[in-house]
Amino acid sequence: MIARSRRVVLVFFLMVSFLPGTAASGGLKGYQQILWEHLEVICSFGPRPPGSPALEKLRGYIRSEGQKYADEIREQEFTFQKTGHPVVTMVNIELVFHGKSDKAPLLVGAHYDTRPFADKENSPMAQRLPIVGANDGGSGTAVLLAMAQYLHAHKPERPVRLVFFDGEDYGAEGSSDYFIGSKHYAAQLEKEDLRDRPYCVLIIDMVGDKDLQIIRETYSAENASWLLKLIGESARKLKAQQFLNPPKHTVRDDHLPFIQIGVPAAVLMDFDYPYWHTHQDTLDKCSPESLFAVFSVVVDAMKKI
Ligand SMILES: [Zn+2]
Repeated sequence: MIARSRRVVLVFFLMVSFLPGTAASGGLKGYQQILWEHLEVICSFGPRPPGSPALEKLRGYIRSEGQKYADEIREQEFTFQKTGHPVVTMVNIELVFHGKSDKAPLLVGAHYDTRPFADKENSPMAQRLPIVGANDGGSGTAVLLAMAQYLHAHKPERPVRLVFFDGEDYGAEGSSDYFIGSKHYAAQLEKEDLRDRPYCVLIIDMVGDKDLQIIRETYSAENASWLLKLIGESARKLKAQQFLNPPKHTVRDDHLPFIQIGVPAAVLMDFDYPYWHTHQDTLDKCSPESLFAVFSVVVDAMKKI
């Protein structure tokens, strides 16, 4: 009898330990495993350039997670043609979470496409092949997917839109064929009623690096310094050393199209990643701890936005 009741207690303890967000799992700690499993699934599809069957598989995965957790799923389908290339169909996917209030929504975005070529490789042959993008494309997507589960369990005060952008990394260096999805999204916003615009935009990109150091990016600091301040406060509270860095780098990313239409926007990113745009941007360069640091800081900061 004693042995049996011990077993019952043990089984209960194990069950509770694996539930995300419970006291027994140390608050959010259960999400670390969830984040990593998302990144493993994302990378298992292989390189995911715009228009590829692998990207369509990832869309299926995002939709199935959205069906489990989001209040609504919206999609924007559009086409894009790079000079000398065939027309490609692109899709932005938006998971909508109704808030307790009807305030303007917070938009958290990440690109889910990966680069169609590896232009930082040395050999011309390797340069032509698409990258897996565990960090560049994978990590932000994993954070947003885990956030969907969190927002389902913790209804936010302000409505939240998690937007997975297509075509961020499609262009050759120096071209304007970047941020296709976020540019399309921002152009649609311009046609809408001003009241439907996001309160602010937070882009998450390249946050999986084992040696994660989130930079204070210049455009973000100029246009949404208050947002970076809230994030910095959460990082200090949670002792997330990955965030406590001086200002560095000016990065063009999915936050720019929003800044250009007057919506405050910032990017969280570690741009010092030696495997950037190479075939070495793989799962083994990333860590669950890095993903979790970003996830927990953003989730904490969200409560104050
Ligand atoms: Zn990239």
